[in-house]
Amino acid sequence: MSDVFDKCSNWKDFRIAKATGLYPYFRSIEASHGATEVEIEGRRVIMVGSNNYLGLSADPRVREAAIKAVEKFGTTCSGSRLLNGTLALHEELETKLAKFLNRESALVISTGFQTNLALSSILGRHDIVFTDRQNHASLVDGIRLGFATERKFRHNDVDHLEQLLAAAEPDAGKIIVTDGVFSMEGDLCNLPRIVELAKKYNARVMTDDAHSMGVLGEKGRGVPEYFGLEAETDLVMGTFSKSFASLGGVLAGPFEVINYIRHKARSVIFSASMTPASIASALKALEIIEAEPERRARLLDIAEKMHNGFRAMGFDTGVSVTPVVPVHIGEQVKCFRFWKALHEAGVFANPVIPPAVEAGHALIRTSFMATHTDAQLDRVLDTFEKIGRRMEVIPETRPTSYE
Ligand code: PMP
Repeated sequence: MSDVFDKCSNWKDFRIAKATGLYPYFRSIEASHGATEVEIEGRRVIMVGSNNYLGLSADPRVREAAIKAVEKFGTTCSGSRLLNGTLALHEELETKLAKFLNRESALVISTGFQTNLALSSILGRHDIVFTDRQNHASLVDGIRLGFATERKFRHNDVDHLEQLLAAAEPDAGKIIVTDGVFSMEGDLCNLPRIVELAKKYNARVMTDDAHSMGVLGEKGRGVPEYFGLEAETDLVMGTFSKSFASLGGVLAGPFEVINYIRHKARSVIFSASMTPASIASALKALEIIEAEPERRARLLDIAEKMHNGFRAMGFDTGVSVTPVVPVHIGEQVKCFRFWKALHEAGVFANPVIPPAVEAGHALIRTSFMATHTDAQLDRVLDTFEKIGRRMEVIPETRPTSYE
């Protein structure tokens, strides 16, 4: 007789990882020093594994806004937006985000993940969703929860997307859904071609701008602004857990669509709303994102410095143009060993293995903050170089050219 719990007690991979000391997850952080350095097991390490791109979680103005909101409204709303969970603060954030993103309407939802789940509410039985194979898990689940037919296209392969669109029922409702910046490798979607195809085949377009809002585009409005295609992108999604130094998400687009989602999405109406501290910190972060473009400029300079630095040593950092810089290692166990050596040398970065990336393409995901100092960044580069040479991920000596 089998027991549903058997798989848990027989979970070998976990036991092996623990026994060999190569278990990199759920590391407990005991203290934070301005977000760029944290303490783990009493040791201070440089944090290059966070999505706090603008470093605003440590900003005194953001902290102060969160504290004031708690003092005024308490620690939670204890209910969903639909019923008792809407504060004037939620409405203020929605109004300001709609304006910032140049959209008729915006809806804030308790997490970025739930924001993508809310997509399911507009996916009906006669609709078809075209989705990039590397889209974030929350989009995958949001699509799974809807009733539409799903068509997956190969990662960033717009020719494959076109084949699927051409083969689809011409009268069906269609939407193309893609990450703007892909979360593990920091590469961009091919929005210009996607938008062209959407016009040709009468499809809507939605981008997940979790990693680009506050980072890319002249005003920080994300991938659609970066490509000059805001009017052609029907729905945009963002999270507050990254540049906005908070927790929550936003979906923005035409009033009628957002209004429908507001009333129908189960992740909205059956879940407690964003806490006062979360909304107030996102509001303050938005103000800073709009007023201080120099933070974005510094972040992009850092991204370039790190790309160039890693490449000059001979590392493969893929095609990222964002502050997410993947350092390709290849084999999974080697990736865990690399992670462990980094950890011991005082650098916090994240190992990424299948299913987040394809088998044999394990990588160390580094991500940077506008508030990292050059001294910290140089230490990170130096540490990667030493470990990379020792573990033969890069040649023993520097290549003369890395083109
Ligand atoms: N979309 C993307 C592309 C993400 O990377 C993430 C989280 N890393 C989410 C959505 C979910 O956002 P959150 O963590 O804020 O719930």
